Order: sequence, then C-alpha cells, then structure tokens
Amino acid sequence: MLIGIDWGGTKIEGVAMLPDGRELLRLREDTPRGDYKGCIAVIADVIARLERETGQTGSIGIGMPGSLEPKSRLGKGASSTWLLGQPVEKDLREALKRDIKVENDADCLAASEAVDGAGAGHNVVFAVILGSSAGAGIAVGGRAHHGPNNSAGDWGHNPLPYPHVSELPGLPCWCGKTGCIEQFVSGRSFTGDYQRHAGQELKPWQIMEKVRGGDRLARLLWERYIDRLGRGLSIVVNTLDPDIFVMGGGMSNIDELYRDLPAAIARNTFSVVFETPIKKAVHGDSSGVRGAAWLWKDEK
Ligand SMILES: [Zn+2]
Repeated sequence: MLIGIDWGGTKIEGVAMLPDGRELLRLREDTPRGDYKGCIAVIADVIARLERETGQTGSIGIGMPGSLEPKSRLGKGASSTWLLGQPVEKDLREALKRDIKVENDADCLAASEAVDGAGAGHNVVFAVILGSSAGAGIAVGGRAHHGPNNSAGDWGHNPLPYPHVSELPGLPCWCGKTGCIEQFVSGRSFTGDYQRHAGQELKPWQIMEKVRGGDRLARLLWERYIDRLGRGLSIVVNTLDPDIFVMGGGMSNIDELYRDLPAAIARNTFSVVFETPIKKAVHGDSSGVRGAAWLWKDEK
C-alpha cells in the first residue's frame, strides 16, 4: 500500500491508500508548532499506527511545507520556520528506518489533482494553496516539476504585481523580503486585512457571510483581495500559461472565488484572451495526503 503524510503548519495528516487510490485509513494530529523534533515524532507515530491498524506496510511519501535545498537537502522556503535549515529527509529516514520521498506540499496538491482530480486530462497544472501561506505547485504530465533550484512554484514570494501606492512597500514577509504576494493573498492575509479595518477577527467564511449580507466594508475588502489575487496570478499566465489553475487551501472553499477571479486575472494578463479554467481541488483538504502517497505510484 501507499502511505501519504501531509505535514502542515496546523495539522499532520496521514493516509493509507491502495495503488488504485482507494483509501484504507486516515489519521490526523495537531502539528506541534515550533517543535521540529516533535513533528518528526508525530509523523513516525502516525505511520506506525497506519501500519498497525491496516496490518500492512507501505511506501512512504511526505508532503512538507517548503522544500529541500537541492544539494544540502536542508529545509528551505517554509512558513513553518522551525524546519528551515533542518536535515528533514535524513531525520525522517532515521526515525522511520527506511527510504522515503519528501516533496513540497503544494507540489503534492498539484500532482494529486493532476493524477485523478480537477487537473486530470490537463498537461500543465498550476496548483495554488491559499491558507496560512500562499504556496503553489506545478505538475507537468502528472508529475511535480521542481527545477534545478527546487524553486518552481515559489510564486508567493514574488512581489505583488502592479502595486498601488497604498500597497508599497507592503508587509514584511517571513522570507526576509517585503511586499510578497503571499502577504496579500493568503487566507491569513485576508482575515488580517479584515481585522485591521473592522477590528474583529473573523474566519474567511464568516467575512464572506458579511459580503453576502451586504456589508460594505467586507465587500470592499473581498474585491480588493480578488484584485490582488488576479494580479498575482496574471504573471503566472504571462510566464507559464498553465492549462488549468487548481485551487486548494481554506480560501478555495469560497464559491465567489470562481465567479470573480477569472475577470481579475483577465484584466491584468498580457494576452487579451483568458480562457484558463480555474477549479477547486477535487480532493479538497485531502489532496496533500493523496499527493504525498502518489510520490511512489510509478514504483508500485
Ligand atoms: Zn516572502
């Protein structure tokens, strides 16, 4: 069987899956935030329980926030900053006592959706995770594309395109730069923007309830959010022109995203035509674990 682990900033989830995609068991634990060794221990425990309860051993694929330096294999580019510079792959291999595959979580989403999700039948899939951060992954022909620097999909750390004066210099980002796309379009940024203006901390879906109820401030913040996301994704169209955008993370559950985003991208692309489909991840929050499990699919 295949085991997939989604090592997220708030939860660590594991799935035991058959090579045809049928799921046998799924387990979920809170991420010990800020505790790197604790994370490794939780992952090892989840895998041990998956194997004990299914009575089978599996190949292990792990989706992590950020990625690995191509040569040193140390963690990089993760908003879960406690794993930066850590020998993630080596420590996981030692804890699990076998070979594993480690992949960026957005790449797992992209691969999972390309194989049997919203991106099935599309050659170039650009998957976006809009949650506590703004990650992206690219799958080509059903496989994650990395590049020589393991940097493909580091989209969220480009500067926000076509900034308004009020958006400069932008908020500082955990990556060390200022005004990154992530600071404008993550789910956390949307709620933060609302909190700054309304003085109230609400979840994205609660803000959208206000938009639907005719709340003017909430509507203006939503329109601004979508405009920023549209600007952010327009440079992806100008650079890669993927066959489909697949949306994951908490913000992907907002129906208005699919209504409002196409026009917001279209008015910023170089091309006057914009017909790219924008779809919600079919496996939703499960895409991370499924994509991680699929890391071994060609070997099975
Ligand atoms: Zn950044």
